[in-house]
Amino acid sequence: MGLKVENATKKFGDFTAVDNLSLVVERGQMYGFLGANGAGKTTTFRMILGLLNQTHGTVTWNGKPITYANSPEIGYLPEERGLYPKMRVEEQLVYLAQLRKMPVAEAKREVHKWLERFEVPHYASKKVEELSKGNQQKIQLIASLIHKPSLLILDEPFSGLDPVNVGMLKSAILDFQKQGATIVFSSHRMDHVEELCDDMSILDRGKVILSGSIRDAKRSFGKHNVRIKMD
Ligand code: ATP
Repeated sequence: MGLKVENATKKFGDFTAVDNLSLVVERGQMYGFLGANGAGKTTTFRMILGLLNQTHGTVTWNGKPITYANSPEIGYLPEERGLYPKMRVEEQLVYLAQLRKMPVAEAKREVHKWLERFEVPHYASKKVEELSKGNQQKIQLIASLIHKPSLLILDEPFSGLDPVNVGMLKSAILDFQKQGATIVFSSHRMDHVEELCDDMSILDRGKVILSGSIRDAKRSFGKHNVRIKMD
C-alpha cells in the first residue's frame, strides 16, 4: 500500500517530459524528489494527482487511482502557488478546507491553530496580497494540509524562502508526518532532502537516475557521476 507509481510516462507532442518513472512511497514516509529545473518534478506530481493524464503507466494511493479534485485524502502545494490575493487569510483557508469536506467550525479552529504555530495569528484578517512571500508560503502550506490529508504532495515548498521560514516550514512538515501523513516533496537541494526524508529519487531530464534510501543514494553519487545543479 502507500503511493505506487509504475512506469509513468508523459509526452508533450514529441517531447518526453517524464520517461517510464516508477517509485514506491510507503505509508507514513517522507520522500524526497530531487532534480534540477525542468527535470520533470512538477509533471510527475501532476500525473500522481490526476491533474495531468499520463501517456502510459499507473498511479495508485493505497491501491486506488488518485483524483485530487476535492478529495479530503490528498493535499497539494503547487509550485505556481494557488492563493486568491484579494481574499482574507482566514476566509480563504476556511473556504479551501470546506471544499475538502471539513466542517466550518473545525476549519476555523485549525486555521487559528496553524497561524499561532507560525507565529502570525494577526494575519487571519489580512488579505493574502498584503503578506510577504515567506508568509504567503506559510498560508499556502496551511491550505495544503488544513483538511488533514493522508497523502501530502509539496512542490518545492522551501524555494525562495529565508532560513528562518525554511526552518518553520520544515518543523511543521515533520510534525505533520509524525501525525501519520505520507509526504512527498520536491527540491533542488540535497541538504533539505537529506535532513527530512527516509527515501529519495533523483530525476534528470525525465528519468530517475538514482533512488533508494538517503544513505544508499549518497554512497552511489560518486559511482553514477550524478550531475545535479545544487543552489
Ligand atoms: P522546475 O523546477 O523548473 O519547475 P520541474 O522539474 O518541475 O522543473 P517540469 O515543470 O515538470 O520540471 O517540466 C519538465 C519538462 O517538461 C520541461 O522541459 C518543461 O518545459 C516541459 N513541460 C512541462 N509542461 C509542459 C507543457 N504543458 N507542454 C510542453 N512542455 C512542457
